[in-house]
Amino acid sequence: MNKSLILVIEDEEDILALIHYNLVKNGFRVECATSGEEGYKKARDLRPDLVLLDLMLPGMDGTDVCRLLRQAPDTKECPIIMLTAKSEEHDIVRGLDLGADDYIPKPFSPQILLARVRAVLRRRDKPEAGAGHAEPIRVRDLYIHPGRNQVVANDEAVELTYTEFKVLMLLASRPGWVFNRTQIVDAIHGEDYAVTDRAVDVQIVGLRKKLGSCGDYIETVRGVGYRLKE
Ligand code: CA
Repeated sequence: MNKSLILVIEDEEDILALIHYNLVKNGFRVECATSGEEGYKKARDLRPDLVLLDLMLPGMDGTDVCRLLRQAPDTKECPIIMLTAKSEEHDIVRGLDLGADDYIPKPFSPQILLARVRAVLRRRDKPEAGAGHAEPIRVRDLYIHPGRNQVVANDEAVELTYTEFKVLMLLASRPGWVFNRTQIVDAIHGEDYAVTDRAVDVQIVGLRKKLGSCGDYIETVRGVGYRLKE
């Protein structure tokens, strides 16, 4: 069996040891780095299947590493999950903006960690069934091509993370229709694990920002959820 290689970039030795132990126990190959510089270099050299990236690192921090990995041709497709502290919400949004695929707030249980790692690897391995046949969607200046995972806003291509794309696809599947946070959570992750409402809001913030003026199409329906204006 071809074991997936996971690169863990984390400066706290205890957390690093815990992650390493749990991943190895569950059949993954694991490489570790304790600084952003070392992690970036190892990612380029080893081409891991997934990177677990701590946000707060001495020297080059997690958002810097994330941005550099997204820029480098050999790592730009590599899935990245950020490990974050609760107080770093602003940085979470930045990290998702820079192309991280997901984030796990600390402290986390090994079960949550494993579920998210598996979910991200599965999404990478199995593109959406039937997505290649779906029809493009146009809402005024916003154009979405499901098969190509492509979004164009005001004639400019927009780079979305996998999760942002899923959220946008859901809203665009029925313009004018209000989706509550539970429906959005289900669309993002199925039943793999619990996602908080707050995580949905973070995705919406990121989406609006990236879509520029088309971001205004996403309306907040107070107390209910979100909809894409018709
Ligand atoms: Ca840290």
